[in-house]
Amino acid sequence: MDTLATKTDPAKDLDVIVVGAGMVGTALAALLAQAGMQVALVEARAEPLGWHDVDDTQAGARVSALTPVSQRLLTHLGAWPAMARFRVTPYRYMQVWDGEGSGEIHFSADEAGVAVLGHIVENDVTQAALNDLVREHPKVACFFGAVPRTLQTTASGRWLTLADGQVLHAPLLVAADGARSALRDLAEIDVTSDDMRQEAVVTTVKCTQTHGGTARQAFLEGGPLAFLPLTLNDDARFCSIVWSTTPEHADTLAGLTPEAFGQALGEAFGHRLGGVSVCGGIYRFPLVQRHARQYVKPHLALVGDAAHSIHPLAGQGVNLGLMDAAVLAEEVINAWSRGAPWGELSTLDRYERRRRWDNTAMLGLMKGFRELFGSRMPVFTLARNLGMSGMNRLAPVKRIVMRQATGERGRLPLSCR
Ligand SMILES: Cc1cc2nc3c(=O)[nH]c(=O)nc-3n(C[C@H](O)[C@H](O)[C@H](O)COP(=O)(O)OP(=O)(O)OC[C@H]3O[C@@H](n4cnc5c(N)ncnc54)[C@H](O)[C@@H]3O)c2cc1C
Repeated sequence: MDTLATKTDPAKDLDVIVVGAGMVGTALAALLAQAGMQVALVEARAEPLGWHDVDDTQAGARVSALTPVSQRLLTHLGAWPAMARFRVTPYRYMQVWDGEGSGEIHFSADEAGVAVLGHIVENDVTQAALNDLVREHPKVACFFGAVPRTLQTTASGRWLTLADGQVLHAPLLVAADGARSALRDLAEIDVTSDDMRQEAVVTTVKCTQTHGGTARQAFLEGGPLAFLPLTLNDDARFCSIVWSTTPEHADTLAGLTPEAFGQALGEAFGHRLGGVSVCGGIYRFPLVQRHARQYVKPHLALVGDAAHSIHPLAGQGVNLGLMDAAVLAEEVINAWSRGAPWGELSTLDRYERRRRWDNTAMLGLMKGFRELFGSRMPVFTLARNLGMSGMNRLAPVKRIVMRQATGERGRLPLSCR
């Protein structure tokens, strides 16, 4: 185990333990440490990802559409300049259409009154920049190659025993260990779960036409197909593909040669960017929407995918998780700096109240979209085509939708304003 715990006595001096050093857990640890709190960051992977792991000639398969609000948080943290220097692709336009009908809707940054609608960023780029913030931070003790084994609660906080026998104690323990959170299970927090019977098939492609800074998505019979713009070394013909479809269709797609897969993508996409050739590995992710019944218990909180996992069709998962991190950090730091008990429900309930509504609304919206676009009934096809085309002509409604999609919802934490 790689331990940087020499900077502190982890069993005695910790203010917060964060389990899971993905994008959300690392952002949370950085926010707390930058405010002066003593944090332990526990991660199963043996090594933190660094810039040398990110390929500057080829895009990583996993990308996220980061909203301008997430960009502000990453700027506040100090991660964004390194990300922007390495590789981020802004998009100013979005096109969404019904592959089974005639409905189509277009959005633009100008209509929304913003500089960009968002950026497509490889997850490894965001992760490498966030890792830089915590790796050498004097207030962060990193435990890599470490997983929790048992959990105990006392009046003073949570005691976490790691698989190698080390024991950590803090007034607050945060689960940021992803959709299948082991810590959430150890804390006996139940989830509602909606198996969407869909898988996301993910790859990177090069098209014959440039993407024009536009994120495109077609709703097809099996699920949505997104072409997300990527610019590599000034070449704007790359796209990251997320094709959500039935497991049976995903089996068929995964069995194709790269050439045949590129052709299938081009056809399904109506050849809007010309010819398509696959230039990365092809990966599959089963899609299950989950929502924890509680985000908090005494001395414990869930953030990110550990609290909620959502269909990728609107590219909201990590954006919601980063907002969880920002709001939890704000509430905890406020309590800690006044000398109030930051691990108790009096503080943690405020976090849950501020985040649950937003997350529930977004999960509900994604379910509604899937049902509307997944139905082959003529009445639904007519409704969504009329709805899309009608909305495309309603500038004020589009502005409201854009504000929601860009993350401008509710009372934002100070770090995101
Ligand atoms: C195909 C696809 C496309 C997506 N596109 C977008 C998009 O465009 N925009 C967007 O916002 N979101 C998107 N998402 C969602 C986004 O990827 C997730 O919401 C995000 O990665 C969640 O981050 P996290 O840090 O909460 O969890 P994770 O990324 O799952 O990180 C969890 C961390 O915890 C560690 N861990 C796990 N178990 C343990 C343990 N027992 N002990 C210690 N450590 C542990 C893991 O190694 C990992 O480092 C997409 C998802 C998919 C599947």
